[in-house]
Parts: sequence; C-alpha cells; structure tokens
Amino acid sequence: MRPVASASAVAYVAAVSASEPGSPSELRASNRQRLLGLLRSRGPMTQADLARASGLSPATVSSIARELRDEGWLEEGDGGRRAALALSRSAGVAVGIDFGHSHVRVAIADLAHTVLAEAEEPVDVDHAAAHGITLAGRLVRRLLDEVGADPDRVTGVGMGVPGPLRRDSGEIGDSAILPGWIGARPEELMEAELGRTVRVENDANLGALAEIVWGAGRGRSDVVYVKVATGVGAGLILNGRLYQGAGGTAGEIGHVTIDERGPVCRCGNRGCLEAFAGAEAVLEPLRRRHGDGLTLRRVVAMASEGDLGCQRVIHDAGRALGLGIAGTCNLLAPEQVIVGGELARAGDLLLDPVRDVVRRAAIAATRAIPVTAGVLGERAEVLGAVALVLRESQRFVAEPPASPAVAR
Ligand SMILES: [Zn+2]
Repeated sequence: MRPVASASAVAYVAAVSASEPGSPSELRASNRQRLLGLLRSRGPMTQADLARASGLSPATVSSIARELRDEGWLEEGDGGRRAALALSRSAGVAVGIDFGHSHVRVAIADLAHTVLAEAEEPVDVDHAAAHGITLAGRLVRRLLDEVGADPDRVTGVGMGVPGPLRRDSGEIGDSAILPGWIGARPEELMEAELGRTVRVENDANLGALAEIVWGAGRGRSDVVYVKVATGVGAGLILNGRLYQGAGGTAGEIGHVTIDERGPVCRCGNRGCLEAFAGAEAVLEPLRRRHGDGLTLRRVVAMASEGDLGCQRVIHDAGRALGLGIAGTCNLLAPEQVIVGGELARAGDLLLDPVRDVVRRAAIAATRAIPVTAGVLGERAEVLGAVALVLRESQRFVAEPPASPAVAR
C-alpha cells in the first residue's frame, strides 16, 4: 500500500483546487507551478530563459519570480550564470538510491541540481533484500543529517534496483542478478523504511536521465543512452521526457535481433544484440586464453594495454552495437547517442566501430548523429535516481521553505 501524501501536500492541493477553475488565482497558481517545474527539471535559468521556455510574458515571469523570491522559494543561482534564478537550497532535497551487484550507493541533491552528498557501502552479493533496504535507509538518514536537511524537506526518493521490475506487481523478476531480491517488492519495502513515496526505475533509464542532467548529454532533449555491461539496455529521452512504453519496458535494445542464426540469448530468442555485445559475448571467447576469473573491467584494461585478442572482441561487440544503434537512430532521430556501462570504459576502442557501422547503416539524415561515451561511470545510476525525482515527480514540498525573507 502506498502511504498517503503528507498533510502539507494535501493542504497545498486543497488550496489550489479551492479556487474556481479558470479564475485568475488558479491561472496564477498554475503559472507558478510551471515556473517551479522548469527550474526543478532544468536547474538554474534566467528570467528571459524562463519566459521563452514557459511561453509566459516577461512581465508575468518577473512578477511571479518576485513573489517566489519573497516567499523563500528562489535565490540567485551560482555557477557563473549571471542573474540566473535557482530553487532555494532550503526548498527541499532529492534522494537517490542505487542497488548494484555488491554495493548500495546514496546521493542527496538540492532542487537547484547541486549534489550535496554521496556515499557508498559494500553489501554482500547474497544478501536478502530486507538487509539491503535497512542498510540504504541508514545511509540516507546519515547523509541527510550530514548535509543538515530535515527529513520533512525530502521532495522525493528515486531508486535503481538490481533486476527487471514487474510493473503490475512491483516485484523483482526471476532473472535478477541478486538471488536475495527475486520476488521482493523494493518500492514497498523502501517506502516502509523511509516513510515516503519512492519511485523505482531500471538502470538504463536512470543512466539516461543522469547523463542529460549532469553528464555528456546535458541540456539535450532527445537522447538515446545505451548501457553495455552484463546486459545491454537503452534509456530513451524523447521530447525531454523518459519514454517508458505502454508496459514500461521500452528500450530493450539488447534484444533486437542482429542475426537470426546467431547464438541463443537468455531471453530465448536467437542472435539478439546482447548475445553479441553483453558481458558473456565479450568474456566467453577470451576464457580459453585468460581463464575463468576474467571480468569486463580486466578485459578493458588489457585491451588498453595493447592485448590484440581483447581489442578484437571489444571491436566485434562495437560493430554489433553499431547495427542496433543505427536502427534506433533511423527510428528515433535523436540529437545524440551516449554509451555507458562497464564496457564503455574502453572508449574509442568500442565506439569507433560503433560510429563506423552507424555511418554506413543509418540513413543520410541520421548518419552524423554523435556517438559519445557517458561521463558519469558508476555514479550514473544513483545520479539518475536523483534526476528521476527532480524531473519526473510532480510532487513538491508544499509550503514555502523557511527563509529570512518570510515574516514569521
Ligand atoms: Zn535476447
């Protein structure tokens, strides 16, 4: 069961809906929400940018901005952006949590997109879900305390989970890489632990959000992010929003057929992209020479040191990826393709063959779409969980933040 919205959020909704539909006060409330939403999803903006992005007149923006500043919602943004407005530090914080194969990582950011604190703790691969949740809860409370944020000011909690999530039941599916999480309902468990609404998303979608907010695709609104690690998956940002598909499973680029007579994939199909570019496809041909303990990280390191066999398998994975990405470019025409995940550490060793195939297999209009490496590395998921709160959640801390500008 989802906990009900906090009392203050309910009060806010009641105050908004109390005015007559279409009345000047309702219009003003909706314009305020529009401006606050823009600042939350895009970070600090000038009044001119706000007017352009919202379609409101500069006079309206200026008047609402003054009101919001007086109430303590806004402050002058920093980061060298002259006269930029940002959501106030005290307006709230977003919490991101990421469960990986052997770690739990937490990040806290303010609504002006500044990451205030980040920490990671190792966790045993065979741990039970409940243990991981307790550990994460402790880490969240410790970091909130460190940055001096009142738990009441948490605007939202985003979380990345170690496995496919069944959207109908909220359960982790049985192909999860962590056995202790199969059948668990992470959203429910974490909501019970923290006493707030939690939004859960898969790792590729979180990587996509993180890269457009803090990384290689900053400021872009049409981006395809491809994560190449144990599995291969994509996060799609279309028109500035995460595209999830009807059942929430959009982006399964790893199971696009590359060769119908290719190897059998874990999904049961044959010749999927993942069967050519996932970890097994990279590691398997190298085991005879390098032994069973081989990891992707090690293969990338050896390739960078000049090992021809390792370079060759990464090159082949890149060509297969190129086919999948070229088709995706034709279909969606993004501004940019970002490749992340463990194998992306190989940089141009992986990306040059991708670009080569895209140049040949994509149509003229999409041939020149830049294909770049993600820049956030292993932080991508936890920052994406924060971005999920900043960009996607509609909920706001309801009352104006405490500020010297507010008479009390
Ligand atoms: Zn497959």
